[in-house]
Amino acid sequence: METILKLNRITKFYGRIRALNEVGFVVPRGAIFGVLGPNGSGKTTLLGIVMGVLRSNSGDFNWFDLPPTHLQRQQIGCLLETPNFYHYLSGKRNLEIVAQIRQRGHADIDAVLDLVRLTERKDSKFNTYSLGMKQRLAIASCLLGNPSVLVFDEPTNGLDPAGIAEIRSLIRRLAEEGKTIILASHLLDEVEKVCTHVAILQRGNLLTAGRVSEKLVNEEFVEAGSEDLTQLSQIMSAFPGLKETKKMDGHLEFHFQDDTPRLSEINLFCYQKGIILNHLLLRKRSLESKFIELTKSESN
Ligand code: ADP
Repeated sequence: METILKLNRITKFYGRIRALNEVGFVVPRGAIFGVLGPNGSGKTTLLGIVMGVLRSNSGDFNWFDLPPTHLQRQQIGCLLETPNFYHYLSGKRNLEIVAQIRQRGHADIDAVLDLVRLTERKDSKFNTYSLGMKQRLAIASCLLGNPSVLVFDEPTNGLDPAGIAEIRSLIRRLAEEGKTIILASHLLDEVEKVCTHVAILQRGNLLTAGRVSEKLVNEEFVEAGSEDLTQLSQIMSAFPGLKETKKMDGHLEFHFQDDTPRLSEINLFCYQKGIILNHLLLRKRSLESKFIELTKSESN
């Protein structure tokens, strides 16, 4: 696995506010890497540091396994703030101006417009664009020069559901083109739907980092009830692989170590021990509740 970005114990203070506390993780090539956390958790600060806009107080980071240089950062397409486009100029003309400012050629402007699906509207004035189209033009401006890495801060902020879906499919398309994408978001849903990897921040602390499939898995458990819950709990304590039993209002929750057994196995097990279940249900704990629990336990 090739490493695109490696952060090592990054700490940042704003006066007495500690915005980042020894944050470290690795972004592999080809990842869509989500930096997830509530507002104020340090996401923008983190992106600002790796893009060389802000300085950390301690810790370091490497792009492409090399010490940071100005030139290197030019090879990273970055959207930390919404760019100022000229309202009365077309989308295409705006990109030509951006390319000129960055001393890049105009050769790839049409390709970039195509990638963000703005070809049909490339000659329309910027102020006739929807919010989603404006955001796609902003992303297009990062794609000039064909950078292999893209960094976006809250790319769907302020967009309606249709606009959010457009950006999501654009991000997937960019990943398919082989780009590594790092994006900050406070929306669990966004990260879950589009990202392959995640780092969860809370008040500047890294709670966890890794593959989304491992870090944000849905957790299954079984809900069951019978006339005598104490007896049910006792009998089920001998069930292979049972990790935890929680007493709820009128029923029990059974959590298992690895795979959750089939309901029919549980039903048969209880029946053979003389217990008739009057309630049996497979439930999934939502990612939402897992995320809330993760961020809550840290603040206590
Ligand atoms: P996020 O992007 O997750 O919303 P930020 O990186 O913007 O978080 O902020 C992290 C913390 O640092 C917050 O407590 C915020 O108030 C503080 N902070 C951010 N920028 C500044 C600044 N320029 N001066 C002082 N405090 C700041």
